[in-house]
Amino acid sequence: MGTPQRIQNVADVVLGDSSERKLIIVSAMSKVTDMMYSLVHKAQSRDDSYTEELDKVFEKHMAAAKDLLDGENLARFLSQLHSDISNLRAMLRAIYIAGHATESFSEFVVGHGELWSSQMLSYAVQKSGASCSWMDTREVLVVKPSGPDMVDPDYVESEKRLEKWFSRQPAEIIVATGFIASTAENIPTTLKRDGSDFSAAIIGSLVRARQVTIWTDVDGVFSADPRKVSEAVILSTLSYQEAWEMVISFGANVLHPRTIIPVMKDNIPIVIRNMFNLSAPGTVICKQPANEDADLDACVKSFATIDKLALVNVEGTGMAGVPGTSSAIFSAVKEVGANVIMISQVVSEHSICFAVPEKEVAAVSAALHVRFREALAAGRLLFRLKSFMIAAFLLLLA
Ligand code: ASP
Ligand code: MG
Repeated sequence: MGTPQRIQNVADVVLGDSSERKLIIVSAMSKVTDMMYSLVHKAQSRDDSYTEELDKVFEKHMAAAKDLLDGENLARFLSQLHSDISNLRAMLRAIYIAGHATESFSEFVVGHGELWSSQMLSYAVQKSGASCSWMDTREVLVVKPSGPDMVDPDYVESEKRLEKWFSRQPAEIIVATGFIASTAENIPTTLKRDGSDFSAAIIGSLVRARQVTIWTDVDGVFSADPRKVSEAVILSTLSYQEAWEMVISFGANVLHPRTIIPVMKDNIPIVIRNMFNLSAPGTVICKQPANEDADLDACVKSFATIDKLALVNVEGTGMAGVPGTSSAIFSAVKEVGANVIMISQVVSEHSICFAVPEKEVAAVSAALHVRFREALAAGRLLFRLKSFMIAAFLLLLA
């Protein structure tokens, strides 16, 4: 959704799709969410250049709308845009005066990119005469905080609200806002950065979609990082678990890691497609991908690495048969807030090995030395750190 031309391309893809009913979840125009976060940041740091930045946000959307729309729909969009911008101006002014933005203030502000992009797309689809409704997902999607920068959907409440929404506005094509939602108390919130894929998966599951397609700018999920492996190819299918490993552990940058959970429980396939290369079939992520390439060459399905890890090896005679050793090791690790990426223990229980990010290994080592001071002094334990290990490997076998 970078330019008016691209929004028009999206409208064409929507109109060209032969599905009986379609629900399209839209992200903000490119860079807009960053601009919205920066507005809040500037206002609360009492940097009055936020006003110029808000003007830029306004101009960007006004120019896009003028390019894309005309007549009554253009007038409607611009009047909504004007009113939103003047509300935001008042809000940012309050943040500027207070020198502080509450979480709900800033969540309200940053979600506007999706409100505008989705309204523009909805009008662009209507231009062709198709019946298309616009959905503000703050009315239907209810989420609750589940950790730092994480939310969990409330499926029961969201489903109720969604049913009510559909009873008022049946339409074959619905264009909805990604990223934004409400709390149970109806306070606007977001699904956090890059959350639009997650929105699509949650709503796909709520409406029991036949398929969720994530439109992006790559042909699909690669078998390896193409910047490192020149022979990398696009995988035609992946199981949910394989996709999970690729995305969560190895940061394959094609979809928001949490996207897989909502659709997995209903076995809804996710298809990754390239908006800029419609001829590419994409990657299908589903329950049991067909084993289409059973020859030996295709035994290894994909390959990924994580850089900058350190291995910590705790070994010694003092560990075997002593209940609580691993708990003591990992509670020391937890105290310094280090994230453990992999764990293994030998059957003889003489050695436990784990991997942490390299930047956390010094703190881990210090914590372990304190925790096991006596055992170390008595020679019952010893630590080995290999901080220069560069990678962990993931091989998915077909
Ligand atoms: N616009 C939001 C963001 O940039 C959500 C998304 O793009 O998925 O984080
Ligand atoms: Mg985005």
